[in-house]
Amino acid sequence: MSFEKATEVRLKLNTGADFPALGLGTANRADPPKTKEAVIAAVEAGYRHIDTAWRYGSEGYIGEALKDLFARGVVTREELFITTKVWPTHWDIPKQSFEESLRRLGVDYVDLLLQHWPLAFKKVYEENGDLVQLPVDENGEYLFDENGHYLQGYKNIEDLYLEDKGKRIRAIGVSNYAIPYLEELLKVARVVPAVDQIELHPHLPQKDIVNYAESKGILITAYSPLGANGAPNLKIPLVQEAVKKYNVTPNEVLISYHIRQGRSVIPRSINTERIRNSIRLVPLTEEELEAFDNFGKENPARHIRDKWGANIPGFEYWTG
Ligand code: NDP
Repeated sequence: MSFEKATEVRLKLNTGADFPALGLGTANRADPPKTKEAVIAAVEAGYRHIDTAWRYGSEGYIGEALKDLFARGVVTREELFITTKVWPTHWDIPKQSFEESLRRLGVDYVDLLLQHWPLAFKKVYEENGDLVQLPVDENGEYLFDENGHYLQGYKNIEDLYLEDKGKRIRAIGVSNYAIPYLEELLKVARVVPAVDQIELHPHLPQKDIVNYAESKGILITAYSPLGANGAPNLKIPLVQEAVKKYNVTPNEVLISYHIRQGRSVIPRSINTERIRNSIRLVPLTEEELEAFDNFGKENPARHIRDKWGANIPGFEYWTG
């Protein structure tokens, strides 16, 4: 059987820009330096979309990889799509966050800047002057900024984007927004987010959010498609059945589940062989896609359950 390549599928953002459906996730917090080799392997294998954030500690290593790839003429900046994000500590200073991301990435624009979470954390500083990513009190409870608000956080990014006129920030969007927050946002937004990046996979199909966002022109990017650390989704029986039927890898099945339905997906790996073995687009049938969604309704599981998100409305199956 010959396959189309997931790396060649392009979606369209509401800005009109092309959006490569398959991106490389880089939340390699356990070993950020490995990101360099992973990005090089991914781009050489045809990936044209890289997802990062200050939170992941991987931006600088992506920058090193890009320098190498550009110098060798493997790819040009214009051929790549780079997403980074503004963490809740920077909800009122997205410009600072964005400028630092650009410097670490070694590029002069990003294709997409996302509000990482609809939250605002209090500013607490490390001894070296850096902001603490996860500020907590003496009982380990997260410290939220009482003057902060998720809508204001988006507005600050929107102001930056409008002021920039799309030169250094080509599009903006959100992440971890379920329907109640999207509804509130759309009442006041001057720029409709181009993307909502949410956890999405057969254990968590979240069809309601997907359908709502898509009806408003907001593309969905699926994060943690493999189930995050340990990749538990690879063991889902329906995935294994498709692996046998199509003679593909489980990564390819889990990636194709999204791309076949017009969504973007950003699997993470630092294993170059796995990266290269994740690019065939599996022709899952309508019945198979529906079976995956039904599996999720009966076996809901959320893998990213950090406690800071526990009060965000619409995050059902929260057990963290
Ligand atoms: P994924 O679901 O992509 O899973 C990553 C894990 O799967 C890694 O530990 C990887 O290990 C492992 N893995 C990959 N292939 C295999 C395989 N064939 N066999 C066994 N293990 C495998 O997790 P993420 O949570 O990282 O999500 C993907 C990306 O989404 C992130 O990297 C980040 O860019 C983004 N994200 C965004 C969030 C947000 O709030 N906006 C939240 C979470 C993620 P190995 O490296 O050894 O292959």
